[in-house]
Amino acid sequence: MIVDLHNHTPRCNHAEGTLDEYVLSAIKQGTKVFGFSDHAPMDFDPKYRMKFEEMSSYVEDVKQVEKKYKDDITILLGYEVDYLPGHMDTRVLNAEVDYLIGSVHFLEGWGFDNPEFMGRWEEQDIDEVWQKYFDTIEDMANTKLFDIVGHLDLIKVFKFLPKGSISKMAKNALNAIKKADMVLELNVAGYRKKIEEPYPSKELLELAFSLDIPITFSSDAHKPEQVAMFNEQIVSLAREVGYTECAYFSKRKRIMREF
Ligand SMILES: [Zn+2]
Ligand SMILES: [Zn+2]
Repeated sequence: MIVDLHNHTPRCNHAEGTLDEYVLSAIKQGTKVFGFSDHAPMDFDPKYRMKFEEMSSYVEDVKQVEKKYKDDITILLGYEVDYLPGHMDTRVLNAEVDYLIGSVHFLEGWGFDNPEFMGRWEEQDIDEVWQKYFDTIEDMANTKLFDIVGHLDLIKVFKFLPKGSISKMAKNALNAIKKADMVLELNVAGYRKKIEEPYPSKELLELAFSLDIPITFSSDAHKPEQVAMFNEQIVSLAREVGYTECAYFSKRKRIMREF
């Protein structure tokens, strides 16, 4: 992937490898624009994210590799921010970054994509959980706080699939994403999970294309060797659906380029 905007660092406590290793891996794979977007600090679920006190050293680390490799690759700075009302912090939302990814990992405090809490899936109506998830994505888009929607259909991660139409469930969320002028990421992390397909599915990507919602690409790497994994599959999926351009950001301004 020529643009790759969603990648982590060890500061989130569940990723490994140095920033140099991520960048070198990206250069080797032919990436032209590579963004770090580690899990932003938050006063909820602090175990899986950097601390507020680490924000400045995170920025310094990214700036350092940006300079070091500037002849070979463009490095961008971002955060993956949890959309969780009551827990979003202005230090993150107003940070001087290239972009913010908004992600839903929690439904009423339940970390539905965390294997630790998978048991709760058995206790609930799957269709209701899915609808609640997409309603939350819709709410997130309506806040207009973020540039990119993280893994649009993450709710499918463990393959608890609904009976109802997913397109129908996601329709209002996609309309809100369009209205908020957000970019959708094509995130390959799903290939590494039980669902074994990217976020979003082809069905939802086609719906996004029909609404003229721009896309970008994401490894969602938590290890250097995950950078640009499944590159060919994700790029051909985007082309099949009709996309020819992808987005990246500089100081929160969108830039489009062909892929
Ligand atoms: Zn993570
Ligand atoms: Zn995420």
